[in-house]
Amino acid sequence: MSHKPGKAVSLISGGLDSAVATKLILEQGISVTGVHFTSLFASKRDKERGLQAVRTAGELGIPLIVIDKGPEYIELIKNPRYGYGKNMNPCIDCRIFMLQKVRAIMEQEGASFVITGEVLGQRPMSQQRDTINLIEKRSGLKGLIVRPLSAKLFSPSEPEEAGIVDRGQLLGLSGRSRTTQQELVDKYHMKAYSSPGGGCLLTDPIFSSKLRDLFNDDRDFTIKDIELLTFGRHFRINHGTKLVIGRNQKENETLETLWAVPYILLSPEDFKGPKGMIKGRADRETLTVAANILGFYGKHDAQQITLEINNGTRKTVCFEKIDVDVERLRI
Ligand code: SF4
Repeated sequence: MSHKPGKAVSLISGGLDSAVATKLILEQGISVTGVHFTSLFASKRDKERGLQAVRTAGELGIPLIVIDKGPEYIELIKNPRYGYGKNMNPCIDCRIFMLQKVRAIMEQEGASFVITGEVLGQRPMSQQRDTINLIEKRSGLKGLIVRPLSAKLFSPSEPEEAGIVDRGQLLGLSGRSRTTQQELVDKYHMKAYSSPGGGCLLTDPIFSSKLRDLFNDDRDFTIKDIELLTFGRHFRINHGTKLVIGRNQKENETLETLWAVPYILLSPEDFKGPKGMIKGRADRETLTVAANILGFYGKHDAQQITLEINNGTRKTVCFEKIDVDVERLRI
């Protein structure tokens, strides 16, 4: 079969599958632009993969467009049409969201199809046949997604039918094994890819419970509130008031750097203990509970807990020791 020249956009995660999938299309003489997504919810591993995605694109010799999912992604997480996975991960909506963005890039770039590294049955939520079909349809890319690793298990896509992509050179992989992908990276001497596994922070149960609490309790949350979820210990003191405290010296310093009105910074005056940052009410009762939490983690035994309170104006205040069920307040 003779091939028509083609241009494609490929989702590059920095992982093995998308690197191999893209290579299989490049081998057919088709030009490819990579797209990589970042977000506020990138895990440490995702961030490493982001750096790897740049290297993957370099090794493949393709340009890479990096897109931040931005504030509209937060709206999506609050109310995903297709629901959540085990935690706060709205994987189906997230895939649709990314592919809709990729569709716009495809049009901008004058490309005629999209490449993904999807493998049928590899992931429980987003890589089952029905879900893959749903995601394809809802992203407006019906017939325009080529999945080089699993293509033979799907009906031919439009570029395959049009002879732009040679279906004969694509694979029919399914399941979790990566043996074939590994053989291919060896064959093509590819090195710039991360090992598989892991999800974004939304798949993490601890992060998810903090995020759920934020969505439920703070209508006016900001990007900073979300960034704060990735470190420290978090406490819901009462409806509308939250305390974050540092777990070590570095986190205490970060809290100090992040502090700005309307947050209130709490610093131990007469004992060694964590710093804290409050968002919400600052009445005496609330501050007393917060002071006792700081005292608890600072192993402060005295009957008075003295803190410097900075809400734009610094002052030193003494609080009485009271019984606080610290674990119950912990998010
Ligand atoms: S794991 Fe996170 S980034 Fe990946 S599809 Fe699910 S929600 Fe999106």
